[in-house]
Amino acid sequence: MPRFTFNRKRAKLRKLLGIRARLALLALIVVAPLMLDRARSLEDTRSKQIALASQEFSELAEHTADTQREVISSVETMLKSAAYIRASAGGVARSCDILRASLPINLPWISSLMIAGGDGHVQCATRNELVGLDLGRRAYFKKAQEVRNVVFSDFLFAIATGLPIVVAAYPVSAIREDSDAVIVAGISLGWLSKIMGNFGGRPGISAVLIDSTGIVLAAPADQASMVGRSLDSLPLLSAIADKAIDSKETKGSLSFIAADGSNRTINFARIPGTQSRLITSIDETRVTAAINRDIRTAYLQLGFVCLFVLLGALVAAEKLIINPIETMVAMARRFGQGDRTARAPHNHLPAEFVPLARAFNAMAAQLGERERELLATNDRLTVMASIDMLSGLANRRGFQSRLDFEWMKAQQTNSELALLMIDVDHFKMFNDTYGHPEGDVCLTKLGETLAGIAAYTMSFAGRYGGEEFCLLLPNTDSARALEIGEMVRKAVWDQALPHATSVHQNVTVSVGVASTRPNDTQQSGDLIEAADAALYAAKHRGRNTVVEHSFVRMTDGGDGMAMAS
Ligand code: GH3
Ligand code: MG
Ligand code: MG
Repeated sequence: MPRFTFNRKRAKLRKLLGIRARLALLALIVVAPLMLDRARSLEDTRSKQIALASQEFSELAEHTADTQREVISSVETMLKSAAYIRASAGGVARSCDILRASLPINLPWISSLMIAGGDGHVQCATRNELVGLDLGRRAYFKKAQEVRNVVFSDFLFAIATGLPIVVAAYPVSAIREDSDAVIVAGISLGWLSKIMGNFGGRPGISAVLIDSTGIVLAAPADQASMVGRSLDSLPLLSAIADKAIDSKETKGSLSFIAADGSNRTINFARIPGTQSRLITSIDETRVTAAINRDIRTAYLQLGFVCLFVLLGALVAAEKLIINPIETMVAMARRFGQGDRTARAPHNHLPAEFVPLARAFNAMAAQLGERERELLATNDRLTVMASIDMLSGLANRRGFQSRLDFEWMKAQQTNSELALLMIDVDHFKMFNDTYGHPEGDVCLTKLGETLAGIAAYTMSFAGRYGGEEFCLLLPNTDSARALEIGEMVRKAVWDQALPHATSVHQNVTVSVGVASTRPNDTQQSGDLIEAADAALYAAKHRGRNTVVEHSFVRMTDGGDGMAMAS
């Protein structure tokens, strides 16, 4: 793998593992157990709620079956009481009166009570319009005579009204053998439906009471349209019709996927003493849908909480860690780029960063101070590097840089520049006579004399090397330079420093003078060379003399000015 790809991958990885990512991970680690715990408790709630719903459903079914059973048993009791009355009261008319008077109003599901003769003709009824009806051909009527017990009809239409009804019959012969009368009771299907009212209005739950042929006898009010219809024709119940009708068992349940794709559980229970069955059906998907919706909302809330925690962690990290670090980095960068005033503003930093900012600022202040000291020392060193300690004048290096500067200035202003080269005469002999230290003292004194002249003539004095000095004269023509050269020679002479081995008996100097108007064809070295040549000429002419380059001007007494050839 090429190296740069590897480096890029490493940089990416480092970015991934940056403070932001680590804090997000930390927030996740903190939040994850809470989330998992909450998720577990939500799942618990979900299964508890489903269990609760299913328990409620089965209690409801049981309760409804019990109530139906009570209805049936109250009908049986009523029939048997009526049969007893008929058997013991003597004539039909008397029985009828008692019957009418005794039909309890607290059994509203018994819509009518009749006494029919053995041929099926209604002899007496709680409702007058029923008297005279012929029930002889009804299956339940024949069966009751045959089995001599209570018989319940299937769903049928009343002869008198044509309305759907269920009828119960009980032959009086069950009590008194010689009687052929049969007691018949009409049971209100509306009431049977009312009993199932508890099943109404519950999404996903339906309940029906069917007869032996699978016709719906009763259903909750919101499913009333099912009454009178065959189970076969009901979309969600047809699949269980056969099983529910044919089953010899009194109770049963089955689960299946209905035509609409819903997951359904069906319970059926036979109402004792009758052929009817209570069928309850639950659509698990719809029942759990509400629970799932609640759970989903709770999960959503949980998700939002996590998101807020994460965002909070990131914002906090940004504000409390990243921003302060970036501020410090920016300050360090400014400082590195040379802005020595750069300081970390610790007013807006979190408390934990303040000591760091203070330490940083102290370091910056110290560094600034050190740099200032360094610059000053450097300046001092530069000055020292260009000063001759013995004479107190500029050394050769200092002189050279001043010459370059004055040369350039004179070139720019087209002015004249003159140079005096000054050499102590017979100085070797001076040293030999008085010793080297005394020679140094002499050189120091000459340095002081030259410094005085330089100040007076606005020129620049230097020690060119050994016992050789120089005087740089800006804006000075050759005549004035010659004058100043003479001024130097005379000043040294006037000092009257004894030099026993010199022909002059005093310390004297020879001066070479050169001047020019610097231009592009010349160099500063040419001026030095010219002055040096003039100095050579001065030595040649007997010393203690001033000689100008290129022309000779004699002065009196053998000492004085001359012109170099
Ligand atoms: P001339 O007149 O031809 O210049 O003769 P001179 O003896 O002055 O010249 P020379 O070049 O022969 O000798 C220069 C002497 O200057 C030699 C050296 O000992 C002396 N000298 C150079 N620098 C110093 C210094 O710093 N201190 C002392 N005491 N003597 C120095
Ligand atoms: Mg010399
Ligand atoms: Mg000399």
